[in-house]
Amino acid sequence: MPKLKPGVVWGQDYQTLIKACKEGQYALPAVNVIGTNSVNAVMESAAKNKSDVIVQLSNGGAEFYAGKGFPDPFQAKVLGAVSAALHVHALAEHYGICVILHTDHANKKLIPWVDAMVTYGEEFFKKRGFPLFSSHMVDLSEEPIEENLAECARILKRMVPLGMSIEIELGVTGGEEDGVGSDDIDNAKLYTQPEDVLLAYETLAPIGHFSTAASFGNVHGVYSPGNVKLRPDILKNSQDLITKAKGLGHNPLDLVFHGGSGSEKDKITESLGYGVFKMNIDTDTQFAFAESIGKYVWNNEKAFAYQIDPDNGKPYKKQYDPRVWLREGEKGLVKRMDEAFADLRSAGKSLAA
Ligand SMILES: [Zn+2]
Repeated sequence: MPKLKPGVVWGQDYQTLIKACKEGQYALPAVNVIGTNSVNAVMESAAKNKSDVIVQLSNGGAEFYAGKGFPDPFQAKVLGAVSAALHVHALAEHYGICVILHTDHANKKLIPWVDAMVTYGEEFFKKRGFPLFSSHMVDLSEEPIEENLAECARILKRMVPLGMSIEIELGVTGGEEDGVGSDDIDNAKLYTQPEDVLLAYETLAPIGHFSTAASFGNVHGVYSPGNVKLRPDILKNSQDLITKAKGLGHNPLDLVFHGGSGSEKDKITESLGYGVFKMNIDTDTQFAFAESIGKYVWNNEKAFAYQIDPDNGKPYKKQYDPRVWLREGEKGLVKRMDEAFADLRSAGKSLAA
């Protein structure tokens, strides 16, 4: 595999990275971030594990990045995403790894969010000569397939001149991610139909590069065991149909595994053999961040109630300094990511040189 320049990866280099993942049967974690603490922790964890990584913003994460007190919530979703992307562009290459910049689910209501980010991306491209994001996701899986693909084609046409890719969704990921999705869907939709994937291929491949979030029983969030029936072999059916219908090689589709948190390890491993190059993780990294801060607060309870101990006059500045306990959260996230890189077999495989 050719080596790549460390930093944000896009266009042909992004496809090189995907190819390396699929041929090497490993995948990159796509971690939903909400601020500099989570962004930096994700890049730190990738550098530590010598893996490339995907930094991802949901619409809610982007809004939070701009600030919950930002005057206009829609503008916050747009500018928070822009701001996070600029932060990653400034730092990624210095962490010495390749970073893919991605956004997460955008349903019909959130299409204006994607269009606005592409508009900012066009301005950015004019000035810098490369895209602001590597790829945006458009999730119209709840709409009729024709409408889903027509809209994805329209947006992909805007992004191709910028060297960008699109991620689409076919079939429905169960559960809910940041207000997108629902628990109330019929079972057949939880498993992507290969005919839909073929239609997507025929519509989008002539326009530009796309990846596909296919549903194989995956669910957002973490639930008690037994509630989720993952069937990675569903992915194989789609790959095989495209190979046959289009006369292509093994695993022609670039697939994305949503709802990676809490999934059985053997199902994750199995999916790596079917062309999955990206696995989204959010719930587990959120918990890792919170759990570590929680432990710190319990162990330093008084420092969160008093600046100076009322009994012995001891100052607590060194304990309540936000850098100290936010760092505990970052360390928790980094530790959880060690597990993700191991599960996805990407540790030690960074293409950055
Ligand atoms: Zn998802």
